Amino acid sequence: VTDIYDPKKRSYVMSRVSGKDTKLEVLVRRALFKAGLRYRKHIKTLPGRPDIVFHKYKTAVFVHGCFWHGHQECKAARLPKSNITYWEQKIRDNIERDKRKTMALTQLGWKVIVIWQCEINTIEKRERRLLFIIKQIRNNR
Ligand SMILES: [Zn+2]
Repeated sequence: VTDIYDPKKRSYVMSRVSGKDTKLEVLVRRALFKAGLRYRKHIKTLPGRPDIVFHKYKTAVFVHGCFWHGHQECKAARLPKSNITYWEQKIRDNIERDKRKTMALTQLGWKVIVIWQCEINTIEKRERRLLFIIKQIRNNR
């Protein structure tokens, strides 16, 4: 199977997937808001510009697309068959960057929660995962 896109186009397509305010991110925010948790989004003053930030609980949340962020052992993170070296490098860089972000935030005393796209891509999974996360955030006080 060859990739239907050349690297440049694929990069564009994937950047759209991982772009700000993805559908899943919006659903996550909505659920957390409903649970009474007040957040801000894409805070530029924090390392890595977390997707959702809870100042009161000093907690930063990232909603990660499985492909783009190289989710381990995840079907959705399988690389395209063509330009494999390109993709391996690209995803490896992203994983490294994510690690650095998490470390920088942790060093500033922040808790970091990562939500993977595959954990919340059905209503059932999403409700279960978010219930857990809501408790986790509240415990961070
Ligand atoms: Zn995944």
